Amino acid sequence: MIGRILRALTATQLELTFDEQPHDGASLLARLRALGLDRRIERCELTHNRTVMVSYRAGVLRVHEAYLAAPPNVWRAIVAFLDGRTRRSRRKAERVIVEHAPRGSGARRERRAAPVRREDAPVLAELSRAHDEYNRRYFGGQLQSIALSVSRRMRSRLGQYTIATEGAEPEIAISRSHIRRDPWGEVLHTLLHEMVHQWQAERRLPLDHGRAFRDKARELGIEPRARRSMEQSAANEQRIARAI
Ligand SMILES: [Zn+2]
Repeated sequence: MIGRILRALTATQLELTFDEQPHDGASLLARLRALGLDRRIERCELTHNRTVMVSYRAGVLRVHEAYLAAPPNVWRAIVAFLDGRTRRSRRKAERVIVEHAPRGSGARRERRAAPVRREDAPVLAELSRAHDEYNRRYFGGQLQSIALSVSRRMRSRLGQYTIATEGAEPEIAISRSHIRRDPWGEVLHTLLHEMVHQWQAERRLPLDHGRAFRDKARELGIEPRARRSMEQSAANEQRIARAI
């Protein structure tokens, strides 16, 4: 009985605290913490960025200012996006966040993804599992979940990381001919290579094969210069990075 009374009091106190709408980064962070945010975040900055709705790096959470006025289920989705243990739960949270993105922001206009061909589904599932595993093993689980695709257009390139642009989510594409032609271990190597580019992009490092790339690749035990079309791949990727 006493337990129930205490819980009721606590709930009332929480509701009182929640009366006030968050009005800046600090009060939004306090709200997210009250909803169970677990990750060690030192501060929260509000952004007006048109494409990135929520991002987290090195103790700093950045949230689009539109989320100050979001309903509590969207705040809970932000918490789940940051703390979610599984790719599935983070994905689900991502969808809720994007649905509440402000009108006119890039996040609302998602890339019109090509429908997944049935024949690609098993390999995409394997790549997705490998991405999760490498993320945990090599990146401390800090990389965001990402769209993966099998590309029929890549001829010389083995894989490609494409950064987020207005209206398009970031993506890692792996060449279908690479998958068909080469041992699976090499395909996984390509995936890990593209994940280093993902890591660069999420840390706002230049998307190239420069020192940061080489150091990270060595740390991971992969060849800094992958075989075959790496040089051409680098040139292509740099073109893409410049274009954006
Ligand atoms: Zn590369």
